[in-house]
Amino acid sequence: MHETVIAESLLAAISQEAAKQSAKPIAAKISCGTFNTVNDEILRFAFTAAAKGTPCENVKLQIEHKPIQGQCQKCKQNFDVESPDKRCPHCGSGDFQLLPDAPLVLEEIEFE
Ligand SMILES: [Zn+2]
Repeated sequence: MHETVIAESLLAAISQEAAKQSAKPIAAKISCGTFNTVNDEILRFAFTAAAKGTPCENVKLQIEHKPIQGQCQKCKQNFDVESPDKRCPHCGSGDFQLLPDAPLVLEEIEFE
């Protein structure tokens, strides 16, 4: 029921911003990490249920999953750990540390 809690906090954040701007929100963009297991469909469903009857009722959620990042131990640059050879794209070193998964963030709200 992790998604219900997220949906409620998103709704609270969007409602607050909408009240501040006295505008009707139509879409919201959020991002989250790869291992931060948010199920898009369940989250959308939970959000729709939570937003029913509020000014956020028709807000469309856009969910972006960010790839895991690594930090190269040699040149200290961060990069997306996606490539199969898992090497730093900056210096080619295979010595890197995985960074913590990205948190769930409300990136932007679109108003009418
Ligand atoms: Zn490097």
